[in-house]
Amino acid sequence: MAILLGSIADDYTGASDLANTLTKNGLRTVQTVGIPDPSLALPDVDAVVVSLKIRSVPATDAVTAATSAQRWLRRRGASHVLYKICSTFDSTDAGNIGPVTEALSHAAGGGIVLVTPAFPETGRTVYLGHLFVGGQPLNESPLKDHPLNPMHDANLVRVLARQSHGAVGLIDLTAIAAGPGAVKTRLEALRAAGVSAAVADAIFERDLETLGEIALETPVSTGASGLGLGLARALVRSGRISPSGAAPADAIRPVGGLSAIVAGSCSKATLRQLDVAERSMPVLRLDPERLLAGPDEIAAAISWAGDRIAAGPVVVAASAAPETVTRLQSLYGREASGHAIETATSIIAAELVARGVRRLVVAGGETSGAAVDRLAIPAFLIGPEIAAGVPVLRTVGNAQGDMLLALKSGNFGGEDFFAAALAMMH
Ligand code: ADP
Repeated sequence: MAILLGSIADDYTGASDLANTLTKNGLRTVQTVGIPDPSLALPDVDAVVVSLKIRSVPATDAVTAATSAQRWLRRRGASHVLYKICSTFDSTDAGNIGPVTEALSHAAGGGIVLVTPAFPETGRTVYLGHLFVGGQPLNESPLKDHPLNPMHDANLVRVLARQSHGAVGLIDLTAIAAGPGAVKTRLEALRAAGVSAAVADAIFERDLETLGEIALETPVSTGASGLGLGLARALVRSGRISPSGAAPADAIRPVGGLSAIVAGSCSKATLRQLDVAERSMPVLRLDPERLLAGPDEIAAAISWAGDRIAAGPVVVAASAAPETVTRLQSLYGREASGHAIETATSIIAAELVARGVRRLVVAGGETSGAAVDRLAIPAFLIGPEIAAGVPVLRTVGNAQGDMLLALKSGNFGGEDFFAAALAMMH
């Protein structure tokens, strides 16, 4: 079946957030890891989110990857493609939001593109083209000190114009509050005046619903999960989506096999979740210094898990309290120690899968990314949420057969998160 909505996300966590938002708003959604193989067999879905890592790469590389992802999505039938950016408009004067937006629009036949990073649920609103993060204009928010993309201007019409060839205009809240007809008229007037991208105000979700309806009449839009919400609700309202109450339930059809939890997050919430898990399942605390010293600690962990896993879920954790983490970082460097431990936890996850684990919970954003890369999982169907922002995922096109995963970053989930996740994964 043809997909209705395609999206290209400029980073993986943003892709997951969007895929979860689309699912919660009624679309059956698959998230791919990178540009999928032409032959990837999709289940019956309404939307596909292609996860790329192009937020901070050179603009030409971002354009090449995004246009190639768009070709894949168009071939699968997507009539509208959302370029998913960060809700804080992370970019520089060199890109990549402008160059990618223009390249996608050009490849899709041109026209005007609606652009809005508004996502009211997380406090991102746009008024008269100015982005607010919580109660602060973007340039006074912590984003002004972002290490890669410091944001010194809250006026997105100016910000986008600096990284675009074409002219940038504004659709202000007055037009949006007047409804889809007024937005369409304004968009048409801007297009006739030679504008190729229109930054749109949005403060409430209803503004995004209005924008979503009009964006669907164009081939390309650029925005954060908030615009995704607007597009999803507009598609549902249009009657083009089959009622999909069953979508998440379908994603959690039992897969059998063994279950395990691998943790690399050192967040307060994860440390607490590990303490709670210890009461009901075997937990192995890895020795981070030994992990960095060589492969013995990994082999010992696999053997420890192998002895216990047939009897029930086991937990293997690199996670440690802040003092231990700081000490390790001062000895080996922050990046090097983090990367080495991610490699170790991903090897452990892959070995557990090789030993029959089909239900896997991974704690830690980077830790999850490394595990998914090592397992070479091509895509996921998004299921119901275990906790806010953390859905159950069902693998699509996985070489080891169907698996259920929960990938939890940082501070997400309540203290019984691990048991709650496993209770939804059979
Ligand atoms: P979160 O989502 O909580 O930020 P991440 O997985 O993204 O979790 O980041 C945690 C980082 O800490 C990873 O790079 C991981 O490898 C690293 N790490 C895990 N355990 C330790 C430890 N004991 N000491 C130092 N770094 C660690």
